[in-house]
Amino acid sequence: MASPASASSSSSSLMWFRKGLRIHDNPALQHAAARACGPLYPVFVIDPRYMEPDRAAFSPGSSRAGVNRIRFLLESLADLDSGLRRLGSRLLVLKGEPGEVLLRCLEEWNVGRLCFEHDTEPYYQALDKRVKDFASAAGIETFSPVSHTLYDPADIIARNGGKPPLSYQSFLKLAGKPSWAASPLSTTLASVPPVGDVGRCEIFEVPTLIELGYNETEQDEVAPFRGGETAALTRMKEALSNKAWVADFEKPKGDPSAFYKPATTVLSPYLKFGCLSSRYFYQCIQDIYKDVKKHTSPPVSLLGQLLWRDFFYTAAFGTPNFDKMKGNRICKQIPWSDDEQLLAAWREARTGYPWIDAIMVQLHKWGWMHHLARHCVACFLTRGDLFVHWEKGRDVFERLLIDSDWAVNNGNWLWLSCSSFFYQYNRIYSPITFGKKYDPNGNYIRHFLPVLKDMPKEYIYEPWKAPLSIQTKAKCVIGRDYPNPVVSHDMASKECRRKLAEAYAVNQRLNGTVSDEDLKSLRRKLEEDQEKELRHTKQRR
Ligand code: FAD
Repeated sequence: MASPASASSSSSSLMWFRKGLRIHDNPALQHAAARACGPLYPVFVIDPRYMEPDRAAFSPGSSRAGVNRIRFLLESLADLDSGLRRLGSRLLVLKGEPGEVLLRCLEEWNVGRLCFEHDTEPYYQALDKRVKDFASAAGIETFSPVSHTLYDPADIIARNGGKPPLSYQSFLKLAGKPSWAASPLSTTLASVPPVGDVGRCEIFEVPTLIELGYNETEQDEVAPFRGGETAALTRMKEALSNKAWVADFEKPKGDPSAFYKPATTVLSPYLKFGCLSSRYFYQCIQDIYKDVKKHTSPPVSLLGQLLWRDFFYTAAFGTPNFDKMKGNRICKQIPWSDDEQLLAAWREARTGYPWIDAIMVQLHKWGWMHHLARHCVACFLTRGDLFVHWEKGRDVFERLLIDSDWAVNNGNWLWLSCSSFFYQYNRIYSPITFGKKYDPNGNYIRHFLPVLKDMPKEYIYEPWKAPLSIQTKAKCVIGRDYPNPVVSHDMASKECRRKLAEAYAVNQRLNGTVSDEDLKSLRRKLEEDQEKELRHTKQRR
């Protein structure tokens, strides 16, 4: 490898894209382009573990990601490549374990400056440490700015005495106005220095799904959202063109069943991959607020939604084992069940509750659902009905969502399961009446569960109640064409409340020191109580 002295005097730079798949408001790219006096190598490394098909997985995709998110990522890379070409450069796609590939490029191209966006996820924290250690030993300058979020989570945590704020209001108080918001962001780049000789490194074009080994027919409905910065900016401009809509935006009021025209922006997949800068989105919303007489405020406003994102990023960064129940100091210890059959029924949209199953089908087909729809299925799986561990549901979302985001997904599962942040376990979403409020005719269910498309409106949310003659006429006999409910919601939700009450009491009594043994004995007690209750019910009958 090049000696530290020769490396530091090298004029070539490497821009390492991971998230931040954009040209606008990309401080790492701007820095690399402005400082380069030699070639600039824009690199993306395809990690086969993340991208290549895994036929054993429960849905089409790799071992880590569903095919919808892989497609979205490939589209985002192709769009980034086009954007870079317009500026006189291109995207260099390499394949392999990202750390190894990157170190090889740094050596091969005698890089003097390495630029990449700072990332707070544990996976990147470990990877980036390895790369930074190497760069520092080799005398390579690194520049790794915070630009994925509005704030630097480390800064907020430091201002809070070393711990992340755990309520949204205290987060807002600490956060204040982001420091960069004092002056307009730089959203254009005149040119990018050309790529240099790539030497022995094998460079690929952005692959297609087929080239990665996927079969286009693996899916019957493709998510209607195209990846990439161009689509992100168009989508954002379209959403923000209606200033009254932005000013009046109130999250809990949206219709979760609206799917032809969703009730929210659907910018989450673009924010996840950084095709859209959250800071630019923030700035554009603020510009609208300046123009209108009055507007809604956090937590329900559109700006408030972006702040939720930063809230979860900060909580996640400052909480060891944020993605687990065990060893997570902000997570209630609850003896969740590991019933594989109930989990499979939920995951495969066979719970027998059309509202829940339709949402799960939308997750499989589109990789995106409205926030309240996510609430309903997450509550149903965990504290509402099935009492299955939130980590299992989190895994399913993590794989299938196109906006799957480590901090936000874990944070919301902690919230919905009443494990952290939110503790009102008596407030359970009904899998029958909640959806009906928004969509009495069940159009959403008819679209995503066509087996029920001819079920009369009276029974669309509870088809098992339809007389057999009506089921036959609707060509959907319950138990044959569509399942019976896996649990009775009334009984199951009552049981869940009782279990949560007992688990909360144990957590309070032991004050954060619930051991495996305590959980085991609580589980035993809950099971015995459940059996007793069943016996009593039978006797009463
Ligand atoms: P909008 O309402 O238009 O909001 C704009 C942006 O604000 C979103 O794009 C998103 O970046 C952010 N935002 C909105 N709501 C939240 C929230 N509750 N928490 C954090 N940020 C928010 N969102 C993800 O981006 N990735 C996930 O993996 C994810 N997993 C979730 C899991 C569960 C169980 C639940 C209940 C919610 C989850 N969410 C997740 C949060 C939320 O549902 C989505 O961000 C939102 O529905 C995306 O749609 P939108 O872009 O139209 O949102």
